[in-house]
Amino acid sequence: MPFNGALENPASYRYMRVTMNEAEYSAASATVAPMPILIAPQAILRQTARPVKPEDMPLIREGLAGMFSAMYAAPGIGLAAPQVGIGLRYALVDLGEEDERQPIVMINPEILTESEMMGPHEEGCLSLPNQYAEVIRPEAVRVRYTMLSGETCERDVDGLLGTCIQHEIDHLDGILFVDHLSSLKRSMIMRRLAKEMKAKR
Ligand SMILES: [Zn+2]
Repeated sequence: MPFNGALENPASYRYMRVTMNEAEYSAASATVAPMPILIAPQAILRQTARPVKPEDMPLIREGLAGMFSAMYAAPGIGLAAPQVGIGLRYALVDLGEEDERQPIVMINPEILTESEMMGPHEEGCLSLPNQYAEVIRPEAVRVRYTMLSGETCERDVDGLLGTCIQHEIDHLDGILFVDHLSSLKRSMIMRRLAKEMKAKR
């Protein structure tokens, strides 16, 4: 893991320790303008994002409150960097309520293992507003990511959190939830979205 290895360099570790944590960025978002969320078919939503390096962190941190603000305003439970035009491998997740936030920042997240059991969950996406469909994914996954503290987190997730994390990691590989559907369903949703967006303009 190049990201974690680089944290052994004290110079890069220092600024990460003295800055805000997940909860503080989430709280700060209340006073920050939401970043605009890109809508499909924007090209960057289809690109593979590159791994985050320690030197990317100052820029990432600068935008975090605005990203949380955009996710909460939508409202949504997950937002990946490519959705705000940043081609880096990180994403936000928060399944908490407005008065009890549970903010997660996943940097360079990876799925380590997937359950054999698959299950359907209804999904939507802030980049495909108003479009929903049942997506079949592994019911549970083991995921590893770096937190803002620079520490690695490895955890087993299932249910809504498992679905949401898989959906966000997909974004980092240029994959949208509609890609898990039949091509017929996918083109139906994309056409409907285009129509709705056109009507809005
Ligand atoms: Zn999405």
